[in-house]
Amino acid sequence: MNPQDAYQWLLSHHVETTYLESMRNLLGWDQRTHMPAKGHIHRANQLANIARFIHLRRTAPQIGEMLAAVEGTRLLEDPRSVEAVNVREWRRAFDRAVKIPEKLAVELARVSSEAETVWQNARPKNDWAAFKSYLQRIIALKREEAELIGYSSEPYDALLDEYEPGETARSLEPLFTELRKGLVALLERIEGSPRKPDTACLHGYFPPYEQESFARKVVERLGYDFEAGRLDPTAHPFSVDIGPGDVRITTRYDSGFFNTALFGTIHEAGHAIYQQGLLGEHWGTPMGQAVSLGIHESQSRLWENLVGRSMSFWKHFYALAQKHFPALQGVSVDAFHFAINEVRPSLIRVEADEVTYNLHVLLRFELELALLRGDLEVESLPEVWNDKMKSYLGSTPPDYSSGVMQDIHWAIGAVGYFPTYTLGNLYAAQLFRKATTDLGNLEEQMSSGEFGSLLDWLRKNIHSQGSRYLPRDLISQATGEDLNPNHLIKYLEAKYAVLYDF
Ligand code: ZN
Repeated sequence: MNPQDAYQWLLSHHVETTYLESMRNLLGWDQRTHMPAKGHIHRANQLANIARFIHLRRTAPQIGEMLAAVEGTRLLEDPRSVEAVNVREWRRAFDRAVKIPEKLAVELARVSSEAETVWQNARPKNDWAAFKSYLQRIIALKREEAELIGYSSEPYDALLDEYEPGETARSLEPLFTELRKGLVALLERIEGSPRKPDTACLHGYFPPYEQESFARKVVERLGYDFEAGRLDPTAHPFSVDIGPGDVRITTRYDSGFFNTALFGTIHEAGHAIYQQGLLGEHWGTPMGQAVSLGIHESQSRLWENLVGRSMSFWKHFYALAQKHFPALQGVSVDAFHFAINEVRPSLIRVEADEVTYNLHVLLRFELELALLRGDLEVESLPEVWNDKMKSYLGSTPPDYSSGVMQDIHWAIGAVGYFPTYTLGNLYAAQLFRKATTDLGNLEEQMSSGEFGSLLDWLRKNIHSQGSRYLPRDLISQATGEDLNPNHLIKYLEAKYAVLYDF
């Protein structure tokens, strides 16, 4: 077969598979937002069947034949061309998919599905013993998976590469070590400051319908297109890509706490704005797909933290917030801004502030690495977890629930996923720094409610690029320099030196 025909075959095969995935996503969205309780069994069956079709199509032997017919030909001469990018990513996905024998894939799916249920029941009961044996099984299976996929220096790399293509433990360790040093030093200065925010203004009664109305106005102004999306309530917020013109977000309302819904909605809108900015004409192919979880997280964090927790943002939005929430009327914008940026080491990652959040992630990365290397056994995981918590964040969890058992990730077999959160924060700070330089007066623009030029900058440099570059290359292309953790450290130091007055 000539290369052009082989490419066309690959193109339509993958676009058709992506249609199935978008149907799966729609079923999943419905399951978590609107489905009647009695529909769960039928929905699980629908999802299992569609997953089987997707798996068959992703591992179809013809993919290998067609890839072979097109690779090394003149069609792919320019590595940045649409064709070369698509083939590179199709190859990557195909090789991963076929290296896992069906027996292992089924076993992983079964054990992680059981483990998720066990985790859900065991966590509130603080029952580490019940969860431990599942985690041991999962780590053993993930090690087996890593061996089958292959790696050059260590097993962890095979798992990490699924979430953040091109990254390895060795490439992350120096970044994370530098970041940890910077964060621990910053945290000490913050804790040594006599200035503390008064957060009482964030705890009161905030009617959910007012929270929704305010959050809608905010994310629409930031650039989320409601004609190509919608916002619904859910237990665990997420964003989901159904297809061009349909990228949805969900959020959770806590009537007694200001931050949950607003920052959660901005976060998910950040993910969705990225999806809305991918090129529709490349839909269903890598050129029209997000490149990695880390880059995805950079978009959500950029809007949530660098924009949404900035003084410029609140100079514009605070008057509107006070209209929606009369309780804020006696609170100055400075006091409010300090309150939403309170730094307080806590035991729970998802409740952590911008400064301590990454320390939670680094701890998990170090533990995962040790587990995969065989330097640490699941048996001693809680003890090592607690020691690290004590040394990074100054406190020891009183129980397993608020310690080693707090996250769902390991239960569902997502080992190697955590680093993408911190990479997202690193990317976000570096991108925002460059956008600020390029745009000149970004702070003034944000203070007057203008976010369009920042959005355009991200559209051009990140969203429209799809998977053209691997994450690190995308960051270098967009910012003119290699990934550098100092951007995040400097951003945090500057912000918190003003707030905590040091
Ligand atoms: Zn996210």
